[in-house]
Amino acid sequence: KSARPRTALNECVKVVVRCRPLSEKEKNEGYDEVVKVWPERGAVQVYNPKGQDKLFTYDAAYDCTADTQTIYDEMVRPLVASVLDGFNGCVFAYGQTGTGKTHTMEGTPDHEGVIPRTFRHIWAHIENTASPDVTHLVSCSYVELYLEDVRDLLAKDCKKLTIRGQELNGFYIPEMTSIVCKSAAEMVRVMRAGNRNRAAGRTDMNEHSSRSHAVFLVTVETAHRATNRIRDSKLTRILQDSLGGNSKTIMIANIGPASYNYDETITTLRYAHRAK
Ligand code: ADP
Repeated sequence: KSARPRTALNECVKVVVRCRPLSEKEKNEGYDEVVKVWPERGAVQVYNPKGQDKLFTYDAAYDCTADTQTIYDEMVRPLVASVLDGFNGCVFAYGQTGTGKTHTMEGTPDHEGVIPRTFRHIWAHIENTASPDVTHLVSCSYVELYLEDVRDLLAKDCKKLTIRGQELNGFYIPEMTSIVCKSAAEMVRVMRAGNRNRAAGRTDMNEHSSRSHAVFLVTVETAHRATNRIRDSKLTRILQDSLGGNSKTIMIANIGPASYNYDETITTLRYAHRAK
């Protein structure tokens, strides 16, 4: 029924599933694994205790032996390379609480996630393309969506923000804090400051985290001195970007392997399948 050119849109959306390992607690409590990943087929099989197994296929599927480095290199690196070529890019993680969204996106100092890997990738590119005729400006914003509210994680008291614009012309958030960064390490510090603000003052983190979405935005502006390209205002550019439809998206659906997660796992896999 939709008038949208679905095929053109779909080519720009990649859907990936990542299944985390059973936790020590789940092993100790004797839970069975009900998820089997077939990485070479991009498929995820879920054993159904009451009937036929369910099988879903995606652009890629990663089991508990895959590390974030592999997911970055195979799926995210090409998207970030497109961003450095002027496309819009979006990577988001989806899934039940405790399935590995934070592990995948932020990671820990020992297991670097997709977001800090993106920072290093951007700065490696900037260093590799450095020349007197090219200047880059990298800025970061970090917002949280909670129910109907948008909050600025980099502003005092996480100030509430308003989204402006319409579907056709693109959305934008006029008062969002934007911090110019000069290195990957600086971007990590901005991310951590936002995370601290996100956690502060939450009485029930579990209830909150299951309903809130954090969005870390990076803008890379490249100016070519010789031609004086990218003079437009920020707003014009945001509008052009969405009008041009030059966006690529990766959805990483995170799932757990344990039998007690069966219903949530199927819900996530179905949702991810519909995203294509
Ligand atoms: P979420 O953000 O979806 O609520 P987390 O990222 O906090 O979930 O993950 C829950 C727990 O599982 C954490 O202790 C995390 O370290 C662990 N975990 C998640 N994914 C993996 C993985 N692929 N390999 C090892 N441990 C993982």
